[in-house]
Amino acid sequence: MSVLNRPAGAERPSTPAQAWAALRAGNARFAAGASSSADTGPDRRAELAAGQRPFALVFGCSDSRVAAELVFDQGLGDLFVVRTAGHVIDSGVLGSVEFGIGVLGIPLVVVLGHEDCGAVGATVQALDDGVMPGGYVRDVVERVMPSVLTARRAGVTSVEGILAEHVHHTARLLAERSVVVADAVASGRCAVVGATYSLREGQVRLDDVVGEAGVDLA
Ligand SMILES: [Zn+2]
Repeated sequence: MSVLNRPAGAERPSTPAQAWAALRAGNARFAAGASSSADTGPDRRAELAAGQRPFALVFGCSDSRVAAELVFDQGLGDLFVVRTAGHVIDSGVLGSVEFGIGVLGIPLVVVLGHEDCGAVGATVQALDDGVMPGGYVRDVVERVMPSVLTARRAGVTSVEGILAEHVHHTARLLAERSVVVADAVASGRCAVVGATYSLREGQVRLDDVVGEAGVDLA
C-alpha cells in the first residue's frame, strides 16, 4: 500500500499540508519498525506505466542510510527523489526540482539532511585543516562551505547546529535560485520544508518551513 495506506488509484495528497501529513505518517511507521509492504508490486507497476504523479519531492543527501522511499515508507511512484552528497545544489539539481514542481505539479519539497553527514564533516575538517579535498569532492565541500561559515559567524559550533544551518540554507537557496520554486511557494501551491533524519531512531524531524502553506512546525 502507498500513501497513508490509501488503496491503489485513490487521490494523492494535493496540498503541501496533506503531503507532509502523508510523509510524517509513513516515517512514523518506519521508525516504529512497522513499515507497510511498500507498494511496488506488479499491479502498481502496471498502473504507473501510463505516467507518474508523485506527491512529494525529496531532495536529500546520497548517504546510504537515508533512502527516501524507505524512511518515509512510500511505494513506487510516490516520491520524486533528487540526492547529492550533502544535498548540495547545482544546475542539475535545480533543473530536476523545477521539473518536479513545474511539470509534475508536486506540492511539497522536503530538504532532508541527517546526522553524521560526511559532506558536512568533510567541510568542517577542510576549514579546520586549511586543506581542500581533491577532485570533484572539492566541489561538494565548496558548496557546503557557506552553511558552515554562516553557522560559525553566528557562534554555532555544535555538529547539530551546523547540520541544521545547512538544511536551512539549502531550503532557502532552492527558492532563491529558482524562479519556478519561488513562484510556486509564493502562490501557496507548493512549500519547501527542511527536515533532519536521526540515524538510530529513524525519525525525520521537521525544522524549517519556507512558504505559507499550512505546514506547521509542531
Ligand atoms: Zn550526508
